[in-house]
Amino acid sequence: MKRSTVKELFASTAQEQKVLVKGWVRNRRGSKNVAFVALNDGTTLQNLQIVVDFALMGEDTMNNITVGCSISVEGILKASAGSGQSMEVVAEKLEVLGLADAEKYPLQPKKHSLEFLRENAHLRFRTNTFGAITRIRHAMIFAIHSFFNERGFYNIHTPIVTASDAEGAGEMFQVTTFDLDHLPRTESGEINYKLDFFGRKTNLTVSGQLEAELAALAMGSVYTFGPTFRAENSNTTRHLAEFWMIEPEVAFNDLNDNMDLAESMLKYVIRYALDHCMEDLEFLSKRLQEEEQSKKAEDRSMELIEKLQFVADNDFVRLPYTEAIDILKNSKPNKNKKFDYLIEEWGADLQSEHERYLVEKHFKKPVILIDYPAAIKAFYMRMNEDGKTVRAMDILFPGIGEIVGGSQREERLEVLLEKMKAMHIPEEEMWWFLDTRRFGSVPHSGYGLGFERLMLFVTGMGNIRDVIPFPRAPKQAEF
Ligand code: ATP
Ligand code: MN
Repeated sequence: MKRSTVKELFASTAQEQKVLVKGWVRNRRGSKNVAFVALNDGTTLQNLQIVVDFALMGEDTMNNITVGCSISVEGILKASAGSGQSMEVVAEKLEVLGLADAEKYPLQPKKHSLEFLRENAHLRFRTNTFGAITRIRHAMIFAIHSFFNERGFYNIHTPIVTASDAEGAGEMFQVTTFDLDHLPRTESGEINYKLDFFGRKTNLTVSGQLEAELAALAMGSVYTFGPTFRAENSNTTRHLAEFWMIEPEVAFNDLNDNMDLAESMLKYVIRYALDHCMEDLEFLSKRLQEEEQSKKAEDRSMELIEKLQFVADNDFVRLPYTEAIDILKNSKPNKNKKFDYLIEEWGADLQSEHERYLVEKHFKKPVILIDYPAAIKAFYMRMNEDGKTVRAMDILFPGIGEIVGGSQREERLEVLLEKMKAMHIPEEEMWWFLDTRRFGSVPHSGYGLGFERLMLFVTGMGNIRDVIPFPRAPKQAEF
């Protein structure tokens, strides 16, 4: 007999038919004669109730059905008489596939803290919360690929090991096969990277952008979706050492086209979640509301589904950095010295507290900030006519701050070379990047979306370590 998934059974209308289901026991209750077993197989949030008759199964089997064990059940699918579920399976045959020592199993049928679940990340897929997050994560990956595929983009795999350390996006992890206790040295005493695996110093990538630009300047519209590594020694709820980034890069797009693309992508994937993940979103929304109860009314965030709908249906605010600085300078928290970093003058780098003020308090909408001072942005961003600002764009989201960072790229060779000199970026290491400006350069634009930041927004979770299965952060690489 072919195994049915729990999701398929809840979706089917056929009743009184024989079925085979397999999964893990989430809960067990019952009386002397019957046990009601809640079975979950990962395909849906809902558990399937299995009704097990003692007389039919024998004592050993009955004793072995404990929370956490895995079972295989053949039985009849029926409308349920009990409240709380529409269907149940009355077991005719039941086999315990894998025992679970009830005393030792860490996930008892009760609410566990997220910290506890992080320490038990190997088992947390078996909770309602992580089941929901995992299904939504999959749906979001799929939606992103659909979005770009529908628009004729090509997916490009950019390298994970790179030699360029010029990008300046963040601290890097070095990749080496050297024995760190016996480093080969040159005559002058420096480490001799010529003898390392790649014959030079290499790192894990902090961004696939530079390579994506090479592809865009031949293929038109491309995107990367890959692992990204930053040795950020900041223990925040929004940073990981290993995360996934989506980086589209489009030839002939200017900054306005770039903003349009990013805004429509974000709305598309959020709508996709609303259309395909409602059951899981409703569960996460309830969970969030319970958590919010403990907060003061004015600190509570908008209900999750309402918030997603709001962002999907409303235009983002587009605002030059210079205007944002004026708003921030005159804001209450700045005047009352409530910001950790006070905004005093034009040129200041914006911290997450400022970004969130603009989005959550001032505009109450996602904001795209553009035209940042050149000095606080990367070398490759296109210089504006004013000679002071660059065609950068950061998209700021409620509860998160920066979710997207992008720009129109500097396509003029002389301007780019001058900028690199000023920022001490070695020209000879970037020869291949500069070749795109030497041969058939065109205006082009792109951006990076942190996938886990998007996941934070869509799930309403508060800590980035809870929206990736196996988080990598300072002092954390278990599992
Ligand atoms: P932040 O200021 O928040 O550290 P950033 O300016 O370093 O971000 P970019 O270099 O522009 O970010 O990277 C593009 C996107 O990648 C960001 O908008 C964010 O969504 C995501 N991102 C950056 N660093 C991290 C990180 N350490 N963990 C998770 N996502 C990240
Ligand atoms: Mn950063």
